[in-house]
Amino acid sequence: MVILKTSRELAIMREAGRISQRALRLGGEAVEPGVSTWEIDKIIREYIEKSGAKPNFLGYGDFPASACISVNNTVIHGIPSKKQILKKGDIVSIDTGALFNGFNGDNAWTFACGEVSEEAQRLMDTTREALFKGIEQARVGNRIGDIGHAVQEYVEARGYSVVRDFVGHGVGAKLHEDPSVPNYGTPGRGVRLLPGMVIAIEPMVNVGDFRVKVLSDGWTTQTIDGKLSAHFEHMIAITTDGPVILTSLDD
Ligand code: MG
Repeated sequence: MVILKTSRELAIMREAGRISQRALRLGGEAVEPGVSTWEIDKIIREYIEKSGAKPNFLGYGDFPASACISVNNTVIHGIPSKKQILKKGDIVSIDTGALFNGFNGDNAWTFACGEVSEEAQRLMDTTREALFKGIEQARVGNRIGDIGHAVQEYVEARGYSVVRDFVGHGVGAKLHEDPSVPNYGTPGRGVRLLPGMVIAIEPMVNVGDFRVKVLSDGWTTQTIDGKLSAHFEHMIAITTDGPVILTSLDD
């Protein structure tokens, strides 16, 4: 069931989104050779807590950290670790979320650790651009399939693949609500977009095969062929004035 948000609830979600975005940027600024993913997670947790919010990933299922930090061939749900030290040339996907006044924020970005390969840069550029292609379709009267189609078409035209096993989602009082927001689809198909819907659009894009595997820790999700993957996510409100990025620092 899709839960529409009131303007009062959207205002709270805007703040949850801002906190999530600031946490993400702080995490991104900390990405440097020699830094552990545990240290980045600590910076993110401390910022979210200082903001009067709660890290919503911590304890979700049994996730043991505040941020998912996924390096290179890890697509999503990487568990921060003192043993994982970043190296020059890594690409580092960070996913952060804050629960503020009963509502969730959720966003992700892939950061370069120092200078990265041309392929890695092109993958990150493509995935970020695909996110904005999806956001452009997040309009009243469109359907979920319009978003997925726009993402998929852009990504595949550039020779990459979109992950199928994990998708975007509605967001609200719960971190994951209806509807599912796949990064693939058919125009004009799926749930109709209505004012007051809030969705997380989050393309996960692989250089090679779209298939992924989940490691024995139950979380870490990697590309099946070991090739690179990138992940960008914004939380969007559907309004009569067009899509509004709730996880933005700009008004
Ligand atoms: Mg999400």
